Amino acid sequence: MKSYENIFISSLTTMRIGGTARHVLEIESEKDIPEAYKFASAYWYPTYIIGGGANTIGRDEGLDGVILLNRLRGFTDNNGEFTIAAGENWDVIVDYACENGYTGVEALSRIPGLVGAAPVQNIGAYGQDVSGVFKSARVFDTATNNIITLEKKDMQFGYRKSIMNTTMKGRFFVISVTLEMKKGQMERPFYNSVEKFIEDYGCTDFSPKGVRQIISAIRKDKLPDPRERASAGSFFKNVYLDPLEAEKAEEKGYPVHRGRDGNKINSAWFMEQCGFNGQLINGMRVNPLAPLVLINESARGYADLAKARATITSTIYDKFGYWLEQEPVEIINTKNRGAQL
Ligand SMILES: Cc1cc2nc3c(=O)[nH]c(=O)nc-3n(C[C@H](O)[C@H](O)[C@H](O)COP(=O)(O)OP(=O)(O)OC[C@H]3O[C@@H](n4cnc5c(N)ncnc54)[C@H](O)[C@@H]3O)c2cc1C
Repeated sequence: MKSYENIFISSLTTMRIGGTARHVLEIESEKDIPEAYKFASAYWYPTYIIGGGANTIGRDEGLDGVILLNRLRGFTDNNGEFTIAAGENWDVIVDYACENGYTGVEALSRIPGLVGAAPVQNIGAYGQDVSGVFKSARVFDTATNNIITLEKKDMQFGYRKSIMNTTMKGRFFVISVTLEMKKGQMERPFYNSVEKFIEDYGCTDFSPKGVRQIISAIRKDKLPDPRERASAGSFFKNVYLDPLEAEKAEEKGYPVHRGRDGNKINSAWFMEQCGFNGQLINGMRVNPLAPLVLINESARGYADLAKARATITSTIYDKFGYWLEQEPVEIINTKNRGAQL
C-alpha cells in the first residue's frame, strides 16, 4: 500500500476543487483494506473512498482524515459473468462488453470513473442503469472487518441510489463487482434524444457496438470531457414524484414523464425555464446543452461552487417549489470515526 500526505483533493477529483487531505492511501490489494481502516480508526480519522473522483467534491478546508484510493485491478469473463475488480475503468469494461456482443451496459458508455463506484449510486443513462446487470459485489464490511458478498436484493437500488449511498453509506469498501451479461441488443423505442439522433443521422446498427457509437456521439456533443473541462457530470438530480405530487405538478403545467422508473420532472427543464443554460455563475458555467452539468471554469474554490449552487437552487425553489438535490458526494471534514458522509 502506498501512502501519501497532504494531497490536494482537487487533484483526485474531476471537479478539481478541494483543499488537502492529510493522508491518502492507495489500495492495491485486498489485504491493504483492513490495514488502511485500522490506521484510520487508530487516529479517529474520517475515511473517504475515491475511485476516479468523477462524482466527488472536496471542500476548501480539505480533510483531516484519510482518503482510500481504490486501485484494485483484474477482470474475468466467464461466459457472460463478468467479475471486475473495483479499480478497473468502467468504460473499458463497457467497450469490452459491446465488442463482444453483450447487451445491458451499452447506454452506459463513456461514463467516467471506476467500477467500484458504479453500484454505489447505481449509475444510469439513456434508459439503462447498472442495477439491470448487477449480480453481486464483494465488499469489505467496516462494521465487522469481514469480506462479504452483497447480492442484488441487498442493494436496494433506485434512481442514483443503493444502500451504499443511503442507509449504509460509508460502511462497505467494494472490492469487486459481478455483472450478469447477456448477448443481444436493446429494444426500441430508445430514449427520445437517442431516437432523435437515429432519425437525424439515419443510424441502422442497434447492436451493443452500434448503440455505444450512438451514445458516444451524443455525449461528445453534449457533455464536457473531464480531461479538458472540470465537472462532476450532472450536479443536480432529476425530481421524482409520487402519484399525487405528479398530478399536482401536471395541473401546474410542469412536464411530468411517467416512465418505467417512476414519475419525474427532468431538472434540466427547471434550469432552462430559469434561463440558466450557458450562464457563468461564480466561476461555474452551466453547460449549455446539458444544464444539469456545472463546469468549473474559474471558481476560486468550494465557496464559489456553493454560491452558484445556492443561486440555482433558491431561484428554482422560489419559482417552482422544488429543491434540487445534489448528485456528487462531498468530502466533509468531521472527526467521526470510520464515517463517510
Ligand atoms: C462528464 C461526466 C459525465 C457523467 N455522466 C454520468 C452519467 O451519465 N450517469 C451517471 O450515473 N453518472 C455520471 N457521471 C458521474 C460519475 O461518472 C459516476 O458517478 C461514476 O460512477 C463515478 O465513478 P468514480 O470512480 O469516479 O467515483 P468517485 O467519485 O471516486 O466515487 C463516487 C462515490 O462512490 C464511492 N466509491 C468509489 N469507489 C468505491 C469503492 N471501491 N467502494 C465503496 N465506495 C466507493 C465514493 O466514496 C463516493 O461516495 C458523470 C461524471 C462526469 C464527470
